[in-house]
Amino acid sequence: MNDARKEVKTTCPYCGVGCGVIATVGEDGAFSVRGDPDHPANFGRLCSKGSALAETIGPEGRLLEPEVMGERTDWDTALSFVADRFSETIAEHGPDSVAFYVSGQLLTEDYYVANKLMKGFIGSANIDTNSRLCMASSVAGHRRAFGSDTVPGTYEDLELADLVVIVGSNMAWCHPVLYQRLAAAKQARPGTRVVLVDPRRTMTADIADLHLPLKPDSDIALFNGLLRFLAAPEGSKSDTAGRPAPVDADYVASHTEGFDEALEAALAYDMARVSRETGLDEAQLAEFYELFAGTEKVVTLYSQGVNQSVVGTDKVNAILNCHLATGRIGKAGSGPFSLTGQPNAMGGREVGGLANMLAAHMAIENPQHRQIVQEFWGSPTVATTPGKKAVDLFTAIEAGDIKAVWVMATNPVDSMPDADGVARALAACPLVVVSDVVAENDTLPFAHVRLPAAAWAEKDGTVTNSERRISRQRKVLSLPGKARHDWWIVCEVARRMGFADAFAYAGPHEIFAEHAAISSYRNDGSRAFDIGAHAAVDRSAYDGLAPFQWPQPVGKLEKTTRFFARGGFFHPDGRARLVPVTSRSGPEACRDFPFTLNTGRVRDHWHTMTRTGLSPRLSSHLGEPFAELHPADALDLGVADADLVEIASPYGSVIVRALVTGRQQQGSVFVPMHWTGQFAARARVDTLVPPRTDPHSGQPASKNIAVHVSRFAAQ
Ligand code: SF4
Repeated sequence: MNDARKEVKTTCPYCGVGCGVIATVGEDGAFSVRGDPDHPANFGRLCSKGSALAETIGPEGRLLEPEVMGERTDWDTALSFVADRFSETIAEHGPDSVAFYVSGQLLTEDYYVANKLMKGFIGSANIDTNSRLCMASSVAGHRRAFGSDTVPGTYEDLELADLVVIVGSNMAWCHPVLYQRLAAAKQARPGTRVVLVDPRRTMTADIADLHLPLKPDSDIALFNGLLRFLAAPEGSKSDTAGRPAPVDADYVASHTEGFDEALEAALAYDMARVSRETGLDEAQLAEFYELFAGTEKVVTLYSQGVNQSVVGTDKVNAILNCHLATGRIGKAGSGPFSLTGQPNAMGGREVGGLANMLAAHMAIENPQHRQIVQEFWGSPTVATTPGKKAVDLFTAIEAGDIKAVWVMATNPVDSMPDADGVARALAACPLVVVSDVVAENDTLPFAHVRLPAAAWAEKDGTVTNSERRISRQRKVLSLPGKARHDWWIVCEVARRMGFADAFAYAGPHEIFAEHAAISSYRNDGSRAFDIGAHAAVDRSAYDGLAPFQWPQPVGKLEKTTRFFARGGFFHPDGRARLVPVTSRSGPEACRDFPFTLNTGRVRDHWHTMTRTGLSPRLSSHLGEPFAELHPADALDLGVADADLVEIASPYGSVIVRALVTGRQQQGSVFVPMHWTGQFAARARVDTLVPPRTDPHSGQPASKNIAVHVSRFAAQ
């Protein structure tokens, strides 16, 4: 590398696969990217979004100066305004009258200081994140089963498995590089089987040996039926090939509790009931059950089709029950595996950036954990009760209970359920602060204060991907205009609120070191999350930090791979819990709203398109929002391909073009989540989504929504 040319190893800012990227700035200033061949997540691969990163980093559309009440100002004025208004609100109405709504786009260091300020110094747990919308049900399911939010396996397991079951995930489009790894492994080992469980026949079906197009939200019936089959296939003591029933009695007896109760609940699910509830015929069910029962190395991947549901947590536990019952967990090529949606959804979980968690995976409800955190931070207080989760947080704003909110790196007026209700809430809120990269999105018009934040190529910190691998995002370009790092903005506000000593960091390396130190600062022996080996990291070591998986306790830097093959769960008795679950029907389609809506991603766009929308190449894949309809429904509605259709729920309506396709089930419709008011006036699909949530996780149900569909004729 000559002096003028710069190469930097960093990490892709889009999905939870967390691919390593080599960013190059050439002698002429040209910016380019390629996959990092040494990064263990992608080994050099990049998908279409990652490959187009260079097209999304320009200065166009950036927010480059702080603004207060519509006027450009300097940082000192803006930061003091935010600090003073938050302090006044807290003094007058108490700590729970303020809130932060943050994002899985933040780096771990940003997340850490925001969580520390709210929970340890303001004294409220009113900090929640858009990660609530994508993986909270997996967190809740993990905590119920394992006693901690721990993903047992690794990406390598997909390549070592003989059977991969993909549930509610279009990983071909949403986790493309992991899909490419699986497809390559299947090609290299032709005996590998793939089963796709999804109401839609997505692109992921292209590598599936069996596609089970079950009814939306009927996964509990499917996996309870599987547990019953595994315990005693249709009442016998052996499976159909004459082998002993595949429940691992030794593992169950040595490492779990609750097997009998879970099985009792599952025994009600004979083939006839499962067939009725899932809409799958018994032959399809038998094929899946026999495949699962007869294959030792099974990985079950699951994502938003499982999580984004009013029964999401129970669905997660129905899957975990089957892996725990067979002891197929934490072994090479075996285990349940939750795919995270965002680049740092997992890092947010590690720092406790959810309203119901403390730092380092500790629990707010646990007084000992609260004491550990408060003592470590030397803070004047610590939140004692969970704060408002995302949907409840915006409801509390609209009700006037929360009077000041700081939105960081997310666009809730487009991405939250009942998006129009979120707009009403922000319009009524006395103080809305937004820190973001862009100067224009649908949330910014509600902001009294706008704070310009660093974008991907300028950021410096860490992210954690779906397999617990912590990687560095490194600065490639200088900060433009007056943009500043998110961690710096939070710390400067904290300093002005009177907490200077606790937020005096010389750089992100000091925040990371503190985060690592608290992860091992536990005196109850239950270190679910531990990266204490990095507690003494200095600037130079941080700069050179290679990707690693946790745990890495103090004094141990050896390679860590999997959890739980030999038990060692994080419940006080060291045992996992099988959780009895029963199916509940979702909102029934009815006469007024006879269709079922699913929302989701497309291949080449990310979230509300503030970055991918800048790339003409990415927009050439699918250039506008659409509604996928089954041909028979299109015929009934008098709709042809590319006609405009109006989709309505009790919460709102959108108008988009019809895409008539046999990939869609009859009676259902799919609309992508990406297009916002900025790009298409009547295509904000989250205006249709009701603010219904899972009672355990608080995750909204962004799928299985009752809607009305009709041909739209302009007046
Ligand atoms: Fe980025 Fe995900 Fe694509 Fe990897 S798979 S390049 S992390 S968007």
